[in-house]
Amino acid sequence: MYKKFQTHLKKELDAIESAGLFKKERVLTTPQGAEIKTQAGLNVLNFCANNYLGLSNSPELIETAKKTLDSHGYGMSSVRFICGTTDLHKELEERIARFFHTEDTILYAAAFDANGGVFEPLLTNEDAIISDSLNHASIIDGVRLCKAKRFRYTNADLEDLEDQLIQAQPQRYRIIVTDGVFSMDGNVAPLDKILALAEQYDAMVMVDESHSAGVIGDTGRGTTEYYDVLGKVEIISGTLGKAFGGAIGGFTTGKKEIIDMLRQRSRPYLFSNSIPPIVAAAGIEVMKMMEAGTEKLRILKENTRYFAEKMIANGFDIKPTKSAICAVMLYDAKVAQEMAARLLDEGIYVIGFYFPVVPQGEARIRVQLSAAHSKEHLDKAIEAFKKVGKDMAVI
Ligand SMILES: *Cc1c(COP(=O)(O)O)cnc(C)c1O
Repeated sequence: MYKKFQTHLKKELDAIESAGLFKKERVLTTPQGAEIKTQAGLNVLNFCANNYLGLSNSPELIETAKKTLDSHGYGMSSVRFICGTTDLHKELEERIARFFHTEDTILYAAAFDANGGVFEPLLTNEDAIISDSLNHASIIDGVRLCKAKRFRYTNADLEDLEDQLIQAQPQRYRIIVTDGVFSMDGNVAPLDKILALAEQYDAMVMVDESHSAGVIGDTGRGTTEYYDVLGKVEIISGTLGKAFGGAIGGFTTGKKEIIDMLRQRSRPYLFSNSIPPIVAAAGIEVMKMMEAGTEKLRILKENTRYFAEKMIANGFDIKPTKSAICAVMLYDAKVAQEMAARLLDEGIYVIGFYFPVVPQGEARIRVQLSAAHSKEHLDKAIEAFKKVGKDMAVI
């Protein structure tokens, strides 16, 4: 059998390669950070990590993790409900709930699992999920695993959302699901207006704060803080793999009974291992940092503002951003690809995105800012963009 299957796979892989869509991994030999080194010997400035607060290589988190190795060991060798729950897991869940002004939290191995395991235990074929068209793949997969009737609305389009809510009225329960910040454009979901529609059409709301927690809102509490609606949505999902340290882990936080039910029925929680104690302890430390001050967040916001302003002044077409994601619009896939390659030669590591990751004709380079970037890093990137942009007649 495998011979035939192998031929089939090789053909498919060749097709991916010749469409220019083959993903190759660049191997880092340093910790994640603003300045990284690759196995190929490149020293580059990194503008494509989700390391928003610069915590991936934080000395405080490393120290916490080291101490926890001594106090709590390495692995849990269990799911949560058998023997995989430590005091650290419980404390992190409480702290995440406190941070987001919610009632309780459930941890997962990843936000992918949090989203994958949130709908099926809560909703049936009598219910409706109304999902933004640009929601993360994990939300799409989670919705697929659930029998609820599916409705999709155009990204952040309130008129379309209202239409879908009207169509979903015959269903028993309704939930609107949206990313807080959308990863390709960096735009923020209009959560205040979504909540108003939810109220009007009797629906619940879930926000995935993976790209927004630690990034937007005056104290980094994400979209609900940004719109001054803390505690007003029923469900928030998020990751520890981006702003909050970047290691691994995800969570769902929200109404008590919802979290209670997820602990009973959510399959990625019931059938997949607990996060290691070092990750839970570092997560607690991140929550303490977030409560203690906003200096890193201030630097991140200042870096984003500075970068976007300078890029626009240099003639680049930047999507309006409220997050730490800056989409440098190039529209043409080849241009985006070539520009990213040339920027790498200049020591700037960024990624070009093109169809099917973004709509046809909307190719771009996505720049992700971090509190770990210094002014010099930013200036170097801006200069490189200017040089390459002029060479390629983009500006
Ligand atoms: C990154 C991301 C995820 C997945 O997070 P992991 O913890 O890495 O699984 C889920 N949702 C959104 C919106 C994301 O950006």
